[in-house]
Amino acid sequence: MSRRTLPPSPQTPQGGVTHYGSRIWDDLRHDPYQARRKYGEPTVCADCGAVYRHGRWQRGEAPADAKREVCPACHRIRDRMPAGLVTLEGPFFAAHRDEVLRLVEHEAMRERDTHPLARIMEIVPEAERVVVKTTDIHLPQRIGEALKSAYQGELAVAYGKDEYSVRVDWRR
Ligand SMILES: [Zn+2]
Repeated sequence: MSRRTLPPSPQTPQGGVTHYGSRIWDDLRHDPYQARRKYGEPTVCADCGAVYRHGRWQRGEAPADAKREVCPACHRIRDRMPAGLVTLEGPFFAAHRDEVLRLVEHEAMRERDTHPLARIMEIVPEAERVVVKTTDIHLPQRIGEALKSAYQGELAVAYGKDEYSVRVDWRR
């Protein structure tokens, strides 16, 4: 069986070691959905209730006078434009599908507390695999790392070239 290793993240220097952890949130790529406009403060997302304050979207109570807009994650959901894709496949996955998907959703819930714009937008069952679509490029890596540490298997991460997108494939 061939083992694929993780390709370096965009910020990893040549020959450097890729660390996945809180650093992935320092990724300098900007979501075009995020960058395309500046929000007033405070602004509340009319769809999910996330609040834009101190330059970023966060969880919390919106003041009564907050402007109402749609956050970048909800814009992507409306446009059906995922930033990240996670594919899950293989005989082990086929045999433990519900359990693995629970772990995927659990990981997404954990992230949502601190990063409300990192969300699963859709879980699409296909013939031989399941595709999880996300609103950002960080959550797929978190999910991939969680799967790898819980179940081993093969993990491959590929960033879109010059764009805000990532594809994570996990197979076992
Ligand atoms: Zn929203």
